[in-house]
This record gives sequence, structure tokens and C-alpha cells, in this order.
Amino acid sequence: MKLENHLYEALSGARPLDSAHPFAIADNGRETTYAQFFSGATQISESLCRLGVKPGQRVALLVPKSVASLKAYLGIIRAGGVLVPLNPGYTSDEVSYFLENASPELLVCDPERLDELESVGLSAGVRSVATLERDGRGTLVGEAGATAPAARPVPRSPSDLAAILYTSGTTGRPKGAMLPHSALASNAAALKRLWRFCESDILIHALPTHHTHGLFVATNVALMAGCTLRFFDKFDADAVLGAFPNATAMMGVPTFYSRLMRLPELNAEAAVRMRLFVSGSAPLLEETHREWKRRTGHEILDRYGMTETNMITSNPYDGPRKPGTVGIPLPETTVRIRDAESGAEPAAGSIGMLEMKGPGLFSGYWRMPEKTKAEFTPDGYFITGDFARRDRDGFITIAGRAKDLVISGGLNIYPKEVEEVIDQVPGVSESALFGVPHADFGEGLVAAVVRDGPEADEQTIKAFLGGKLARYKHPKAYVFPEELPRNALGKVQKHMLREEYRRLLMRG
Ligand code: AMP
Repeated sequence: MKLENHLYEALSGARPLDSAHPFAIADNGRETTYAQFFSGATQISESLCRLGVKPGQRVALLVPKSVASLKAYLGIIRAGGVLVPLNPGYTSDEVSYFLENASPELLVCDPERLDELESVGLSAGVRSVATLERDGRGTLVGEAGATAPAARPVPRSPSDLAAILYTSGTTGRPKGAMLPHSALASNAAALKRLWRFCESDILIHALPTHHTHGLFVATNVALMAGCTLRFFDKFDADAVLGAFPNATAMMGVPTFYSRLMRLPELNAEAAVRMRLFVSGSAPLLEETHREWKRRTGHEILDRYGMTETNMITSNPYDGPRKPGTVGIPLPETTVRIRDAESGAEPAAGSIGMLEMKGPGLFSGYWRMPEKTKAEFTPDGYFITGDFARRDRDGFITIAGRAKDLVISGGLNIYPKEVEEVIDQVPGVSESALFGVPHADFGEGLVAAVVRDGPEADEQTIKAFLGGKLARYKHPKAYVFPEELPRNALGKVQKHMLREEYRRLLMRG
């Protein structure tokens, strides 16, 4: 039978639409059943149709994490729209770029930011702005029953777009990765099988929902399995540890694990009911893996993926999980590692560029055909930009990013964007931003600032960044060298800066 709305059917098929099984249990104990979740999503999808959103049109969602925001996600998919999730921490300046680039029909925001974002949205060409509160109220939801309900989800084929997620690159502004229905549905189905998710699971969800990990990996797998989310608006180590006795699985970034290990109460007894701990989005140190096993008896399952590709590799559920590796390719996904010069796969254990092909792959960067072309090989492999090596058993280790992307606490920071703002500070002649190891965040951002006036001190720069960039993009330390190291072509040698300041954020 032909699916009507490919992703919606895949995500809503595990439970009957009137199921009383809990979909989410919030921090305050409030439960949302599957029936309530589906009816909320349906109401939003009808409201979107009423607001004039047509199939294929974008809807930008800039709201704090909540169960209501997940209803909006499913509602947008049901209405045939294309979800554009944006980090709620973005400033107006940042939001205006995304709106101009994605040209959404509708912007959905928190009522607290309505005044500010309405003018940003309208000047970026957005046709209307609606609100959504954490508790599910707002103009997006409208009045229930205001019009006859659209009986069926709007038809969408597997190749139609479901979402555009912005991701930082090496040059220029963030690029919108176009994700078709089939890429999201097939990846979630593969992960559900691989990690054995079933109806009785209770998955701890403390990840942000504007990023692929919390939005697609965690939420889609849970929906497809028909299981329950133990839902946190944000990560809090004490609260999350307190949820272990009543949960079965957790998906997190490495920072979650290092923070949880600071709590003396973390031990095997606390984790006795848990069956699975997954880590991804940033490098998980071998030490973290070993120490977690020592404390809890569980081996963290490290997996690797990107916004553009969905998940590419995973350590096995059964069988050995190799610390320091991200496992083996997902079924139907092909990974090749190529030497930059010869183009051939280097000998086992040697480093090359990781390229992939598979059903989870995106369909290109939104309105950037040249950038799309540059990231694919002539035979259709996506060039990930990650250096990697493969051992004799086929397990892959990520050796570092070719790009200068800094990933701090699981969040991507594009250094050039921050440099451009710092360079505007009076008294700054130039700056170079780079990542160094950080005991807590995995990587932390450091600013090397060259001054031509005395007024550009650390306090002044910090104050300048305040209203312009989201907090997670602010450098964790500042250094003030006389000049930046450059090569013969005049390019700043960031690897030299990284080397010189390697230990800057490891203290304490
Ligand atoms: P994003 O598109 O935000 O998900 O970032 C993708 C990038 O995160 C990848 O290209 C990798 O550099 C990095 N990454 C994701 N998962 C892992 C992992 N398990 N270990 C090391 N790096 C990872």
C-alpha cells in the first residue's frame, strides 16, 4: 500500500491514535499520552493549513524545548510543510539570516519574543508569525474546531523534503541541509532495530530539539518504537541521574557523561534498570568510556553521524563496543576512507577522509547548488570533512575534523562567525578563534586577539558579544598575542595556535 505522508505514517504507526500509553513524562511528572500527542499535532497541522501553509513551504520553529514543540514538529510534517528548527538562543541578527535564507511562510516563536521577532520576520519576508508556549497554548494552535478538521495528513512522497537543518561550514554562513522524508524515516527505522527499541522502553531525553540528535535520533526512534520519553527541557545532571531508576535508555553528548560522573551517587545500583547508554555528536574520550563502565557496569555505545547524513556508524548492540571508535557502518550505508593523494583506502589504521553513501543522506544544501556539488565526489559519495581510520575489524575512529568547526558541549561553533564580530570591536585589529581540549565541554573556544588600541580588553569584547551572539558561541578564554602565526600564503595557522594553547582550558 502506498504511504500517504511518508514520514508521518512512519512516525505515527506504532501506536493507535487514541492510545493511552504515555508518550512523554515531563520533569514535573506531567504525562502526555500518545492520544494527546497525536491530537495536538493534528490540531497544529489543521491550524497550519488554515494559516495558508502549502505543501513544501517552510515553517521556522524558534521556540524553547517542550513537548508542545515536538507536537509542532509532527504537525508541520502532517501538514506537508518543511520544518526549519532554529536554536532558541539565537539573537535577532542571527535569526534574520536564517529567515532570509530559508524564506519560510510562517515563523513560530515564543510569545515572550513576539515583538522582537515579528519585525525581524516581516522584514525578512516571512508572511506571518505565530506563537507557541511551552504549555501548548498560542496562536499556532488556534481555536480547536474552528474549521472542519482536515481528515487526512497531506500526502508527501519519500523524496519530498521534511526538514531543513542549518549546519556550519568552513566558509560563508551556515548552510541549510535538505532532509527528505525517506532519509529521516529510514534512519530512525535502522536505529530502532539496531538498538532494540520497543514499546516498553523509557528513553531519557535531555538533548536540545533544534539539532539532529535530539530531534531526529531520539524523538523519531521513540515514536517509531511507540515508547515513552522521560522528557527534560534541559540537561541537569542531578535530575537526569534521579530518572535512571525509572528509565531504560539515554541518548546524550559526551558532556552528559562527564558531568554525571562528577556525582558520587552514580554507581551500578543507580543504573541497574538501564539497558542502553548512547553517545554521539562529539568525540567520546576512551577514558570516559572506561570510567563509565567501571562506575556503572555499562559500556557506552558511541555512534557517529552528521546533520547531512543522519547516522553513519554505530557500535554494535551485542558484541564488542570498542572504546575510542564509533563502530561500523549502519546497514545499507557504505563508508569509504580515502587517502588525500592516492584516492585509495589507506592501510588499516591509517588516516584518510571519510566519505559515505546511504539512505540517510540529505538531498543537498538549500539554494546552494555549488556548495552541494563541492561536497560530493563524482561517483556520488558525500565528503564528510572528517578524518578517520578503520581497524582490521572494520571499526572506525574519527581522527579529527578537516574543517575548523569547534564542537563545544555538543554544539557546533563556526569560528569565522565569531571572528567577524570580535573584529568589529574598537581597538581590535584581527582575531583567530580555535578549539582546544576542555575537561567538561570536550572542546572549548579560545580567541586570539591582536590589538591596535588599548581599549580592546577582555571585558569590552565580552560586553560587545553579549547582544550579538548566542552564549554558547562566546569564547571560554582570550589570549592577546602580538601577531597571528601565518604561512607563506598569508593563511593563519590555527594548528599552531591550538598547539601553543593546548592546555589552556584543562586546568582545574
Ligand atoms: P552535526 O552536523 O552538528 O551533527 O555535527 C557533525 C560532526 O560532529 C561530524 O562531522 C563529526 O565531526 C562530529 N561527530 C558526530 N558524532 C561524533 C562522534 N561520535 N565522535 C566524534 N565526532 C563526532
